[in-house]
Amino acid sequence: MAAHVEIDGLTKRFANVTALAGVDLTVEAGHLLAVLGPSGCGKTTLLRIVAGFERADAGRVSLAGREVDGACVVPPHRRGVAVVPQEGALFPHLRVGENVGFGLPRGRESARRVEEVLELVGLVGLEKRYPHELSGGQQQRVAVARALAPRPTLVLLDEPFAALDAALRADLRADVRAALAEDHATALLVTHDQEEALSIADEVAVMRDGRVRQCAAPELVYWQPVDPWVASFVGEATVFRARVRDGIATTVVGNVPVLDPARGTDSSAGPDRSVLVRPEQVILGDHGTQAAVSEVTYYGHDATVVARLLDGTPIIVRVQTGHRLPVVGQQVQLRIEGAGHVLADDPDATPRPSGLTGSRG
Ligand code: ATP
Repeated sequence: MAAHVEIDGLTKRFANVTALAGVDLTVEAGHLLAVLGPSGCGKTTLLRIVAGFERADAGRVSLAGREVDGACVVPPHRRGVAVVPQEGALFPHLRVGENVGFGLPRGRESARRVEEVLELVGLVGLEKRYPHELSGGQQQRVAVARALAPRPTLVLLDEPFAALDAALRADLRADVRAALAEDHATALLVTHDQEEALSIADEVAVMRDGRVRQCAAPELVYWQPVDPWVASFVGEATVFRARVRDGIATTVVGNVPVLDPARGTDSSAGPDRSVLVRPEQVILGDHGTQAAVSEVTYYGHDATVVARLLDGTPIIVRVQTGHRLPVVGQQVQLRIEGAGHVLADDPDATPRPSGLTGSRG
């Protein structure tokens, strides 16, 4: 499949702030790439440069093989790009149908297209309403329909679900994903919500401090993050410092096979490596390493338990609800199932000797 968006060596400074420090990214045609990162890491700046609202200091952006920022610059309205902002920015005095058809030439063809995109986003029958007569979720659906109406080849979404409550957000993102796919649009979505990025995207680019730390399919980012920082940003993580030999990590909870043992031998940072274990891999049962429960957090579909080994090392465990949950102070035994993943040493942080690196969020 052809690359639709190619970003090479993009840098951007604002006075003494480096917003982008050399970003390389590619989005395949028809794919949705989520740019995930904490506040201030440069996500919106990246999106604004792709849209043409901001110019890069150095580097290049090409859309469908045409350079739009670099040696030459193409203005925003000639890039074939549509933007869905955080809050829809609908015209309050125009009805839903008029908002959606705003950028289209008058005529029967446009009216058909308005109907088509309203159907894509599930708003048939609401054409005559004004924005103030819609819920927040419906307003965002109108914003998405308006963006799709002129058949842009690239849709840029800047935290479009951020203002909505959790249930609405999940519904809307599934519908938006389906609408983009139906329209064969390529999309770049900016978010700080890891669950959103993992659930909606074909690829996730994890950014920190103006750089892309990892860009890969959601499963890879979750199960094979490059370093402890990415591991903790995209989910909950227990990271052990452990000796890795012949594909086995010797940890405080026993021997754990590792997926990629070669990484365990290629560092000059000493003999121990950081080995990631996700909470789903830790099993509470009637044999294994002794630990005491120090925290239980209930989420409905599952719960997170923090169990501390005798030496105080905390281990995060995911427990399916429906079984009886352990209680704080209870003695348990735990073991690890499946393989651990060897992380590269984090260039910007000193990994803790072992224990928690993540939080649910
Ligand atoms: P958030 O999730 O909070 O929106 P972000 O990842 O989108 O954050 P950016 O908005 O791209 O981050 O900002 C990156 C850095 O550049 C931040 O330190 C920000 O303060 C700075 N910055 C962005 N725009 C400007 C500007 N116009 N002038 C000065 N500094 C800016």
